Amino acid sequence: MTAELACFEERCRARFPITEVIYNCPRCGGLLEAVYSAPETSPAAWKTRWRERRMSNDPMDQSGVWRYRELIPFLSGDSRVVSLREGSTPLLEAPRAARYGGLDRLVFKHQGYNPTGSFKDNGMTCGVAQALRLGRRRVACVSTGNTSASMAAYASAAGLQAVIFLPHGNIAHGKLVQALEYGARTLQVDANFDQILALVRRIAEPLGIYLVNSINPFRIEGQKTIMVEMMDQRDWREPDWVVLPGGNLGNTSAFGKALREMLQLGLIRRLPRLAVIQAEGSAPFYELFHSPDRSRLPRVEHPQTLATAIRIGDPVSWPKALHEVTASNGVVERVSEQEIADAKAVIGQCGIGCEPASAATLAGIHKLVAAGTIRADADVVAVLTGNVLKDPDYIYRYHSGELKAPDGSQIMANFGNHSLLVPCEESQIRILLNN
Ligand SMILES: *Cc1c(COP(=O)(O)O)cnc(C)c1O
Ligand SMILES: [Zn+2]
Repeated sequence: MTAELACFEERCRARFPITEVIYNCPRCGGLLEAVYSAPETSPAAWKTRWRERRMSNDPMDQSGVWRYRELIPFLSGDSRVVSLREGSTPLLEAPRAARYGGLDRLVFKHQGYNPTGSFKDNGMTCGVAQALRLGRRRVACVSTGNTSASMAAYASAAGLQAVIFLPHGNIAHGKLVQALEYGARTLQVDANFDQILALVRRIAEPLGIYLVNSINPFRIEGQKTIMVEMMDQRDWREPDWVVLPGGNLGNTSAFGKALREMLQLGLIRRLPRLAVIQAEGSAPFYELFHSPDRSRLPRVEHPQTLATAIRIGDPVSWPKALHEVTASNGVVERVSEQEIADAKAVIGQCGIGCEPASAATLAGIHKLVAAGTIRADADVVAVLTGNVLKDPDYIYRYHSGELKAPDGSQIMANFGNHSLLVPCEESQIRILLNN
């Protein structure tokens, strides 16, 4: 088995050693991906092996990422891996959400069950493994969100220093506190995301920093296993649709790559269709997908949405994501702040819960079923990307009727659940609870 980095651009496809520290193609600037030679053993036998590993106490087998290591073989055998037991996330049946979406049945794959509460952990265990293998002492990212929370945890667990660069004054507190608690050095910089990233790229080499931003190809490898695990949990029966939110589009790229590779290896027989859902105020990929010219992304200068995990105006992985959505005969939809908020409350009423970006999936399903794109009897898996506790402020505001969209408009608490102030009087509480 050999692993290499390959340029994703069709007209280039240049190859580089897997241990070269590069973040874009040095020849054309294109995105990079990990590519592998054909496996020496039969992939069909892997299914039994993966099932057996679920009984094992070896951390590598208990990890829902490394359990499927045959499909992400970028490390050499002697590399060290740090696992916090990422992955192994459940498939949850949600009849109430299915009814809301207009489906007979709906299953959520809930990535919020991960150690730091989002799917970023699936990727980060791989990004950090690569940093260790390269002998780096520090990892860094530019992020205010789940990426920084995840990187902080994995870096500390691996004995690496985590450095987080944040645009000053643009902080999502719930996620930032995780980074602080896990011991990351957080630097607030008075500049925008792009300016900071350019700066970090210049200083990374001299400071021995390995960058684990969204385009890191090894994070994508880790996120592939979300689809592999889903197929394993479904006894390899392919769903008709996989629905997910789209921000920087790394996850869309990872899911598409995983499904294509599983098809090539004969592990599945057909590709599920990908449905990527964006928030209306941050929907450049939706615009691209529905425009006659798909060669240039119409970037959004000031992306707006309360679903901060998908508030991205210039998603770096769009060429990969476009390829994957097209290859799967998929679709891209966009949903309003009100639709996200209501869908989120419905997911909560299922006893499941998720962060706002994740709820875009159910809002998108509602729209796509109504439009006839997804049939009511389709077999659909929606991926909930983050944990309900990531954004408690949003939840409280919604249920108390105080949530406002970024444009200042009021979001209706259509599924609101008010907390009541009551006197300590038996008769009154009886009357209240009997109604
Ligand atoms: C990162 C993230 C997303 C967006 O994923 P991309 O790969 O950037 O498209 C969605 N939801 C949550 C909770 C996230 O953390
Ligand atoms: Zn190239």
